[in-house]
Amino acid sequence: MDFELTGEQLEIQRMVRDFARNEVAPAQEQMDRDHEFPYAVWKKWSDLGMAGILISQEYGGSGLDSLTYILAMEEMGTVSQTFALIWQVHVMVANMYVHLGTPEQKNKWLPAFARGEKLGAFALTEPGAGSDAGGLKTRAERDAHGDWVINGSKIFISNAGTRISDGTVLMAATGETEAKRKAISCFIIPRDAPGYTLGQSFDKMAWHGMDNRELVFNDCRVPAENLLGKEGAGLRQALTGLNLGRIVFGTLGASLIQACLDEALAYAKDRRQFGKPLTDFQLTQAKLADMAAHAEGVRRFAHYVAWMHANGKDCHTEAAMLKLMGTRLAIEAAREAYQIHGGYGFMHEFRVNRLYREAQILAIGEGTNEIQQLLIARALGC
Ligand SMILES: Cc1cc2nc3c(=O)[nH]c(=O)nc-3n(C[C@H](O)[C@H](O)[C@H](O)COP(=O)(O)OP(=O)(O)OC[C@H]3O[C@@H](n4cnc5c(N)ncnc54)[C@H](O)[C@@H]3O)c2cc1C
Repeated sequence: MDFELTGEQLEIQRMVRDFARNEVAPAQEQMDRDHEFPYAVWKKWSDLGMAGILISQEYGGSGLDSLTYILAMEEMGTVSQTFALIWQVHVMVANMYVHLGTPEQKNKWLPAFARGEKLGAFALTEPGAGSDAGGLKTRAERDAHGDWVINGSKIFISNAGTRISDGTVLMAATGETEAKRKAISCFIIPRDAPGYTLGQSFDKMAWHGMDNRELVFNDCRVPAENLLGKEGAGLRQALTGLNLGRIVFGTLGASLIQACLDEALAYAKDRRQFGKPLTDFQLTQAKLADMAAHAEGVRRFAHYVAWMHANGKDCHTEAAMLKLMGTRLAIEAAREAYQIHGGYGFMHEFRVNRLYREAQILAIGEGTNEIQQLLIARALGC
Protein backbone atom coordinates (compact mmCIF):
# COMPACT_ATOMS: atom_id res chain seq x y z
CA MET A 1 0.00 0.00 0.00
CA ASP A 2 1.50 3.31 -1.10
CA PHE A 3 0.38 6.46 0.74
CA GLU A 4 2.87 8.78 -0.98
CA LEU A 5 1.50 11.57 -3.16
CA THR A 6 3.16 12.13 -6.52
CA GLY A 7 5.41 15.12 -7.19
CA GLU A 8 2.67 16.66 -9.34
CA GLN A 9 0.05 16.21 -6.59
CA LEU A 10 2.33 17.81 -3.99
CA GLU A 11 3.02 20.69 -6.38
CA ILE A 12 -0.73 21.29 -6.98
CA GLN A 13 -1.39 21.12 -3.23
CA ARG A 14 1.27 23.76 -2.60
CA MET A 15 0.01 25.98 -5.42
CA VAL A 16 -3.61 25.81 -4.17
CA ARG A 17 -2.54 26.47 -0.57
CA ASP A 18 -0.65 29.62 -1.66
CA PHE A 19 -3.47 30.80 -3.92
CA ALA A 20 -6.08 30.20 -1.22
CA ARG A 21 -4.11 32.14 1.40
CA ASN A 22 -2.96 35.01 -0.82
CA GLU A 23 -5.92 35.52 -3.16
CA VAL A 24 -9.03 33.86 -1.74
CA ALA A 25 -8.66 34.64 1.99
CA PRO A 26 -8.78 38.44 1.51
CA ALA A 27 -11.77 38.07 -0.84
CA GLN A 28 -13.58 35.77 1.63
CA GLU A 29 -14.19 38.55 4.13
CA GLN A 30 -15.58 40.72 1.34
CA MET A 31 -17.84 37.91 0.07
CA ASP A 32 -19.20 37.40 3.56
CA ARG A 33 -19.88 41.13 3.96
CA ASP A 34 -21.05 42.16 0.46
CA HIS A 35 -22.61 38.90 -0.81
CA GLU A 36 -20.88 39.32 -4.20
CA PHE A 37 -19.55 36.67 -6.54
CA PRO A 38 -15.72 36.88 -6.58
CA TYR A 39 -15.27 37.52 -10.34
CA ALA A 40 -11.63 38.69 -10.15
CA VAL A 41 -10.48 35.73 -8.04
CA TRP A 42 -12.40 33.28 -10.24
CA LYS A 43 -10.59 34.69 -13.29
CA LYS A 44 -7.16 34.26 -11.69
CA TRP A 45 -8.09 30.75 -10.53
CA SER A 46 -9.25 29.86 -14.05
CA ASP A 47 -6.05 31.27 -15.55
CA LEU A 48 -4.19 28.67 -13.45
CA GLY A 49 -6.13 25.93 -15.26
CA MET A 50 -8.27 25.08 -12.22
CA ALA A 51 -11.70 25.76 -13.77
CA GLY A 52 -10.88 22.99 -16.24
CA ILE A 53 -9.13 20.67 -13.79
CA LEU A 54 -11.00 17.52 -14.94
CA ILE A 55 -11.47 18.56 -18.60
CA SER A 56 -9.02 16.91 -20.98
CA GLN A 57 -6.28 18.97 -22.63
CA GLU A 58 -7.98 18.35 -25.99
CA TYR A 59 -10.72 20.76 -24.85
CA GLY A 60 -8.37 23.24 -23.16
CA GLY A 61 -8.51 21.72 -19.67
CA SER A 62 -5.77 20.49 -17.33
CA GLY A 63 -6.72 16.80 -17.61
CA LEU A 64 -5.99 15.96 -13.95
CA ASP A 65 -7.64 13.12 -12.03
CA SER A 66 -10.25 13.15 -9.27
CA LEU A 67 -7.71 12.41 -6.50
CA THR A 68 -5.66 15.49 -7.41
CA TYR A 69 -8.90 17.47 -7.56
CA ILE A 70 -9.84 16.32 -4.05
CA LEU A 71 -6.39 17.21 -2.70
CA ALA A 72 -6.82 20.70 -4.15
CA MET A 73 -10.37 20.93 -2.79
CA GLU A 74 -9.13 20.08 0.69
CA GLU A 75 -6.70 23.01 0.60
CA MET A 76 -9.25 25.44 -0.76
CA GLY A 77 -11.93 24.36 1.72
CA THR A 78 -9.68 25.11 4.68
CA VAL A 79 -9.54 28.77 3.62
CA SER A 80 -12.89 29.32 1.89
CA GLN A 81 -15.77 26.88 1.80
CA THR A 82 -17.67 29.34 -0.39
CA PHE A 83 -15.06 29.53 -3.12
CA ALA A 84 -14.53 25.76 -2.90
CA LEU A 85 -18.26 25.16 -3.45
CA ILE A 86 -18.49 27.60 -6.37
CA TRP A 87 -15.65 25.63 -7.93
CA GLN A 88 -17.22 22.25 -7.04
CA VAL A 89 -20.52 23.00 -8.79
CA HIS A 90 -18.69 24.24 -11.89
CA VAL A 91 -16.42 21.17 -12.04
CA MET A 92 -19.37 18.79 -11.54
CA VAL A 93 -21.27 20.37 -14.40
CA ALA A 94 -18.25 20.44 -16.74
CA ASN A 95 -17.72 16.79 -15.87
CA MET A 96 -21.29 15.97 -16.96
CA TYR A 97 -20.50 17.48 -20.36
CA VAL A 98 -17.25 15.45 -20.46
CA HIS A 99 -19.07 12.16 -19.81
CA LEU A 100 -22.42 12.75 -21.53
CA GLY A 101 -21.78 15.36 -24.22
CA THR A 102 -21.76 14.73 -27.97
CA PRO A 103 -18.58 15.86 -29.78
CA GLU A 104 -20.49 18.99 -30.91
CA GLN A 105 -21.63 19.80 -27.35
CA LYS A 106 -18.10 19.30 -26.03
CA ASN A 107 -16.58 21.52 -28.71
CA LYS A 108 -19.15 24.20 -28.07
CA TRP A 109 -19.04 24.34 -24.25
CA LEU A 110 -15.97 22.70 -22.76
CA PRO A 111 -13.26 25.19 -23.88
CA ALA A 112 -15.23 28.09 -22.35
CA PHE A 113 -15.83 26.08 -19.14
CA ALA A 114 -12.11 25.24 -19.02
CA ARG A 115 -11.17 28.92 -19.34
CA GLY A 116 -13.73 29.80 -16.65
CA GLU A 117 -15.42 32.24 -19.04
CA LYS A 118 -18.66 30.33 -18.57
CA LEU A 119 -19.72 29.13 -15.12
CA GLY A 120 -21.58 25.83 -14.71
CA ALA A 121 -24.79 25.31 -12.71
CA PHE A 122 -26.91 22.22 -12.06
CA ALA A 123 -30.67 22.56 -11.63
CA LEU A 124 -32.43 19.58 -10.05
CA THR A 125 -34.17 20.75 -6.84
CA GLU A 126 -37.70 22.16 -7.01
CA PRO A 127 -39.98 23.69 -4.38
CA GLY A 128 -41.80 20.34 -4.09
CA ALA A 129 -38.90 17.99 -4.90
CA GLY A 130 -35.76 18.06 -2.75
CA SER A 131 -34.61 14.68 -1.40
CA ASP A 132 -37.29 13.07 -3.56
CA ALA A 133 -35.61 14.22 -6.80
CA GLY A 134 -37.75 11.83 -8.85
CA GLY A 135 -40.81 13.83 -7.79
CA LEU A 136 -39.84 16.83 -9.91
CA LYS A 137 -42.61 18.56 -11.88
CA THR A 138 -40.66 20.54 -14.50
CA ARG A 139 -41.62 19.10 -17.90
CA ALA A 140 -39.97 19.16 -21.31
CA GLU A 141 -42.06 18.30 -24.38
CA ARG A 142 -41.16 18.15 -28.05
CA ASP A 143 -42.92 20.62 -30.35
CA ALA A 144 -43.76 20.02 -34.04
CA HIS A 145 -40.17 20.99 -35.09
CA GLY A 146 -38.54 18.66 -32.56
CA ASP A 147 -37.47 21.53 -30.26
CA TRP A 148 -37.96 21.12 -26.51
CA VAL A 149 -40.49 23.31 -24.70
CA ILE A 150 -39.84 23.48 -20.97
CA ASN A 151 -42.18 24.58 -18.17
CA GLY A 152 -41.56 24.61 -14.44
CA SER A 153 -39.27 26.10 -11.82
CA LYS A 154 -36.17 25.24 -9.79
CA ILE A 155 -35.07 26.45 -6.40
CA PHE A 156 -31.79 27.14 -4.52
CA ILE A 157 -29.68 26.66 -7.69
CA SER A 158 -26.00 27.51 -7.17
CA ASN A 159 -23.97 29.52 -9.71
CA ALA A 160 -26.91 30.04 -12.10
CA GLY A 161 -27.35 33.82 -11.90
CA THR A 162 -23.88 35.37 -12.21
CA ARG A 163 -22.70 37.48 -15.18
CA ILE A 164 -20.82 34.44 -16.52
CA SER A 165 -23.37 31.67 -15.82
CA ASP A 166 -24.23 29.72 -18.97
CA GLY A 167 -24.99 26.20 -20.15
CA THR A 168 -26.89 25.34 -16.97
CA VAL A 169 -27.75 21.63 -16.80
CA LEU A 170 -31.47 21.22 -16.14
CA MET A 171 -33.34 18.07 -15.10
CA ALA A 172 -36.86 17.76 -16.45
CA ALA A 173 -39.50 15.05 -16.93
CA THR A 174 -39.88 13.89 -20.54
CA GLY A 175 -42.59 11.24 -20.23
CA GLU A 176 -42.83 7.79 -18.72
CA THR A 177 -40.50 4.81 -18.75
CA GLU A 178 -41.69 1.33 -19.77
CA ALA A 179 -42.05 0.56 -16.06
CA LYS A 180 -44.53 3.49 -15.85
CA ARG A 181 -42.10 5.63 -13.86
CA LYS A 182 -41.30 9.25 -14.63
CA ALA A 183 -38.64 9.53 -17.35
CA ILE A 184 -36.22 12.32 -16.50
CA SER A 185 -33.72 13.86 -18.93
CA CYS A 186 -30.89 16.42 -18.80
CA PHE A 187 -30.91 19.60 -20.91
CA ILE A 188 -28.41 22.33 -21.68
CA ILE A 189 -29.96 25.75 -21.00
CA PRO A 190 -28.12 28.70 -22.56
CA ARG A 191 -28.39 31.91 -20.52
CA ASP A 192 -30.36 33.62 -23.33
CA ALA A 193 -32.82 30.77 -24.00
CA PRO A 194 -36.26 32.31 -24.72
CA GLY A 195 -38.67 31.76 -21.83
CA TYR A 196 -35.86 31.24 -19.29
CA THR A 197 -35.72 33.78 -16.45
CA LEU A 198 -33.78 34.11 -13.24
CA GLY A 199 -35.91 34.43 -10.15
CA GLN A 200 -35.06 35.87 -6.77
CA SER A 201 -31.68 35.23 -5.20
CA PHE A 202 -31.70 33.98 -1.62
CA ASP A 203 -30.37 35.70 1.48
CA LYS A 204 -28.43 32.83 3.04
CA MET A 205 -26.93 31.94 6.40
CA ALA A 206 -23.48 31.39 4.82
CA TRP A 207 -21.77 30.94 1.38
CA HIS A 208 -22.49 34.63 0.76
CA GLY A 209 -20.31 34.95 -2.37
CA MET A 210 -22.17 32.13 -4.09
CA ASP A 211 -25.18 32.91 -6.24
CA ASN A 212 -28.25 30.84 -5.27
CA ARG A 213 -31.58 31.49 -6.86
CA GLU A 214 -34.83 30.37 -8.33
CA LEU A 215 -34.99 29.58 -12.06
CA VAL A 216 -38.23 29.90 -14.00
CA PHE A 217 -39.07 28.15 -17.30
CA ASN A 218 -42.11 29.53 -19.05
CA ASP A 219 -42.48 27.87 -22.47
CA CYS A 220 -38.69 27.97 -22.58
CA ARG A 221 -37.43 26.68 -25.95
CA VAL A 222 -34.16 24.88 -26.61
CA PRO A 223 -33.25 22.99 -29.78
CA ALA A 224 -33.33 19.18 -29.99
CA GLU A 225 -29.53 19.01 -29.79
CA ASN A 226 -29.61 20.48 -26.25
CA LEU A 227 -30.58 17.11 -24.78
CA LEU A 228 -27.53 16.05 -22.72
CA GLY A 229 -26.96 12.30 -22.57
CA LYS A 230 -29.71 9.73 -23.11
CA GLU A 231 -33.37 10.66 -23.06
CA GLY A 232 -34.96 9.24 -19.91
CA ALA A 233 -31.61 8.44 -18.24
CA GLY A 234 -31.24 11.84 -16.57
CA LEU A 235 -31.67 10.80 -12.95
CA ARG A 236 -29.07 8.03 -13.20
CA GLN A 237 -26.71 10.40 -15.02
CA ALA A 238 -27.18 13.07 -12.37
CA LEU A 239 -26.64 10.66 -9.50
CA THR A 240 -23.34 9.55 -11.06
CA GLY A 241 -22.25 13.22 -11.04
CA LEU A 242 -23.41 13.62 -7.45
CA ASN A 243 -21.10 10.78 -6.39
CA LEU A 244 -17.98 12.91 -6.87
CA GLY A 245 -19.90 15.77 -5.24
CA ARG A 246 -20.36 13.64 -2.12
CA ILE A 247 -16.63 12.95 -1.99
CA VAL A 248 -16.11 16.71 -2.17
CA PHE A 249 -18.57 17.37 0.66
CA GLY A 250 -16.83 14.81 2.90
CA THR A 251 -13.49 16.38 2.01
CA LEU A 252 -14.81 19.84 2.82
CA GLY A 253 -15.83 18.37 6.17
CA ALA A 254 -12.15 17.55 6.80
CA SER A 255 -11.16 21.07 5.68
CA LEU A 256 -13.71 22.64 7.98
CA ILE A 257 -12.61 20.54 10.97
CA GLN A 258 -9.00 21.61 10.28
CA ALA A 259 -10.01 25.27 10.06
CA CYS A 260 -11.94 24.95 13.36
CA LEU A 261 -8.91 23.36 15.00
CA ASP A 262 -6.59 26.12 13.75
CA GLU A 263 -8.91 28.87 15.00
CA ALA A 264 -9.73 27.24 18.33
CA LEU A 265 -6.13 26.29 19.13
CA ALA A 266 -4.82 29.79 18.41
CA TYR A 267 -7.62 31.34 20.46
CA ALA A 268 -7.22 28.92 23.37
CA LYS A 269 -3.48 29.57 23.58
CA ASP A 270 -4.08 33.30 23.73
CA ARG A 271 -7.17 33.54 25.94
CA ARG A 272 -6.49 33.41 29.70
CA GLN A 273 -9.00 32.63 32.45
CA PHE A 274 -8.33 31.72 36.08
CA GLY A 275 -4.75 32.96 35.47
CA LYS A 276 -4.01 30.37 32.76
CA PRO A 277 -4.41 29.97 29.01
CA LEU A 278 -7.48 27.90 28.02
CA THR A 279 -5.12 25.25 26.62
CA ASP A 280 -4.14 24.39 30.22
CA PHE A 281 -7.67 23.09 30.94
CA GLN A 282 -8.06 19.42 30.17
CA LEU A 283 -11.65 19.89 29.01
CA THR A 284 -10.38 22.28 26.31
CA GLN A 285 -7.55 19.90 25.43
CA ALA A 286 -10.06 17.10 24.90
CA LYS A 287 -12.04 19.19 22.42
CA LEU A 288 -8.87 20.11 20.49
CA ALA A 289 -7.63 16.52 20.49
CA ASP A 290 -10.97 15.30 19.10
CA MET A 291 -10.79 17.87 16.30
CA ALA A 292 -7.23 16.86 15.39
CA ALA A 293 -8.15 13.15 15.32
CA HIS A 294 -11.32 13.75 13.30
CA ALA A 295 -9.56 16.01 10.77
CA GLU A 296 -6.88 13.41 10.17
CA GLY A 297 -9.31 10.48 9.98
CA VAL A 298 -11.74 12.14 7.57
CA ARG A 299 -8.89 13.50 5.41
CA ARG A 300 -7.33 10.04 4.99
CA PHE A 301 -10.70 8.41 4.26
CA ALA A 302 -11.37 11.14 1.68
CA HIS A 303 -8.05 10.38 -0.04
CA TYR A 304 -8.97 6.70 -0.16
CA VAL A 305 -12.43 7.24 -1.63
CA ALA A 306 -11.03 9.75 -4.14
CA TRP A 307 -8.40 7.19 -5.11
CA MET A 308 -11.19 4.63 -5.68
CA HIS A 309 -13.04 7.15 -7.85
CA ALA A 310 -9.91 8.06 -9.83
CA ASN A 311 -9.26 4.36 -10.48
CA GLY A 312 -12.76 3.62 -11.72
CA LYS A 313 -13.84 1.54 -8.72
CA ASP A 314 -17.44 1.54 -7.54
CA CYS A 315 -17.39 3.86 -4.52
CA HIS A 316 -21.04 4.90 -4.18
CA THR A 317 -21.38 3.50 -0.66
CA GLU A 318 -17.98 4.78 0.45
CA ALA A 319 -18.82 8.25 -0.91
CA ALA A 320 -22.05 8.23 1.11
CA MET A 321 -20.15 7.10 4.23
CA LEU A 322 -17.52 9.81 3.74
CA LYS A 323 -20.15 12.50 3.22
CA LEU A 324 -22.09 11.41 6.30
CA MET A 325 -19.11 11.06 8.61
CA GLY A 326 -17.10 14.07 7.39
CA THR A 327 -19.96 16.54 7.53
CA ARG A 328 -21.31 15.27 10.86
CA LEU A 329 -17.87 15.60 12.48
CA ALA A 330 -17.49 19.04 10.88
CA ILE A 331 -20.67 20.22 12.59
CA GLU A 332 -19.38 18.83 15.89
CA ALA A 333 -16.00 20.55 15.42
CA ALA A 334 -17.68 23.86 14.57
CA ARG A 335 -19.81 23.63 17.73
CA GLU A 336 -16.78 22.90 19.92
CA ALA A 337 -14.57 25.57 18.29
CA TYR A 338 -17.40 28.06 18.82
CA GLN A 339 -17.75 26.95 22.46
CA ILE A 340 -14.02 27.48 23.03
CA HIS A 341 -14.45 31.08 21.82
CA GLY A 342 -17.06 31.77 24.49
CA GLY A 343 -19.14 34.90 23.80
CA TYR A 344 -16.66 36.10 21.18
CA GLY A 345 -17.70 33.29 18.82
CA PHE A 346 -21.16 34.85 18.65
CA MET A 347 -19.64 37.95 17.02
CA HIS A 348 -19.40 38.04 13.22
CA GLU A 349 -15.87 39.45 13.31
CA PHE A 350 -14.53 36.12 14.61
CA ARG A 351 -13.82 33.59 11.86
CA VAL A 352 -15.23 30.74 13.94
CA ASN A 353 -18.62 32.41 13.57
CA ARG A 354 -18.50 31.87 9.79
CA LEU A 355 -17.23 28.30 10.20
CA TYR A 356 -20.14 27.54 12.51
CA ARG A 357 -22.65 28.85 9.94
CA GLU A 358 -20.94 27.09 7.02
CA ALA A 359 -20.85 23.71 8.74
CA GLN A 360 -24.64 23.39 8.89
CA ILE A 361 -25.24 23.30 5.14
CA LEU A 362 -22.73 20.47 4.60
CA ALA A 363 -25.30 18.08 6.08
CA ILE A 364 -27.92 19.21 3.53
CA GLY A 365 -26.29 19.68 0.12
CA GLU A 366 -25.45 16.83 -2.30
CA GLY A 367 -28.13 14.67 -0.67
CA THR A 368 -28.97 15.21 3.01
CA ASN A 369 -27.19 13.10 5.60
CA GLU A 370 -30.39 11.12 6.16
CA ILE A 371 -30.36 10.21 2.47
CA GLN A 372 -26.72 9.06 2.87
CA GLN A 373 -27.86 6.87 5.80
CA LEU A 374 -30.58 5.35 3.61
CA LEU A 375 -28.01 4.58 0.87
CA ILE A 376 -25.62 2.97 3.34
CA ALA A 377 -28.44 0.96 4.92
CA ARG A 378 -29.49 -0.23 1.45
CA ALA A 379 -25.92 -1.42 0.81
CA LEU A 380 -26.15 -3.33 4.10
CA GLY A 381 -29.14 -5.18 2.69
CA CYS A 382 -31.79 -3.37 4.77
C1 LIG B 1 -27.17 26.76 -0.33
C2 LIG B 1 -27.81 25.69 -1.14
C3 LIG B 1 -27.33 25.39 -2.41
C4 LIG B 1 -27.97 24.43 -3.21
N1 LIG B 1 -27.54 24.23 -4.48
C5 LIG B 1 -28.26 23.40 -5.30
C6 LIG B 1 -27.92 23.27 -6.69
O1 LIG B 1 -26.97 23.89 -7.18
N2 LIG B 1 -28.68 22.45 -7.46
C7 LIG B 1 -29.75 21.75 -6.95
O2 LIG B 1 -30.40 21.05 -7.72
N3 LIG B 1 -30.08 21.84 -5.64
C8 LIG B 1 -29.37 22.66 -4.82
N4 LIG B 1 -29.71 22.78 -3.48
C9 LIG B 1 -30.81 21.99 -2.96
C10 LIG B 1 -30.38 20.85 -2.04
O3 LIG B 1 -29.82 19.83 -2.81
C11 LIG B 1 -31.63 20.42 -1.25
O4 LIG B 1 -31.89 21.44 -0.33
C12 LIG B 1 -31.45 19.07 -0.57
O5 LIG B 1 -31.38 18.05 -1.52
C13 LIG B 1 -32.59 18.77 0.40
O6 LIG B 1 -33.84 19.02 -0.17
P1 LIG B 1 -34.92 19.93 0.62
O7 LIG B 1 -34.20 21.17 1.06
O8 LIG B 1 -36.11 20.09 -0.23
O9 LIG B 1 -35.24 19.12 1.92
P2 LIG B 1 -36.31 17.89 2.07
O10 LIG B 1 -36.06 16.89 1.01
O11 LIG B 1 -37.67 18.48 2.20
O12 LIG B 1 -35.86 17.28 3.44
C14 LIG B 1 -36.24 17.84 4.72
C15 LIG B 1 -35.74 16.90 5.80
O13 LIG B 1 -36.40 15.63 5.66
C16 LIG B 1 -35.44 14.60 5.56
N5 LIG B 1 -35.92 13.55 4.67
C17 LIG B 1 -36.42 13.67 3.42
N6 LIG B 1 -36.72 12.48 2.90
C18 LIG B 1 -36.40 11.56 3.84
C19 LIG B 1 -36.48 10.14 3.92
N7 LIG B 1 -36.91 9.39 2.90
N8 LIG B 1 -36.05 9.54 5.06
C20 LIG B 1 -35.58 10.27 6.09
N9 LIG B 1 -35.49 11.62 6.09
C21 LIG B 1 -35.89 12.25 4.98
C22 LIG B 1 -34.21 15.26 4.99
O14 LIG B 1 -33.04 14.50 5.26
C23 LIG B 1 -34.24 16.60 5.70
O15 LIG B 1 -33.68 16.47 6.97
C24 LIG B 1 -29.06 23.72 -2.68
C25 LIG B 1 -29.52 23.99 -1.38
C26 LIG B 1 -28.92 24.96 -0.62
C27 LIG B 1 -29.48 25.27 0.73
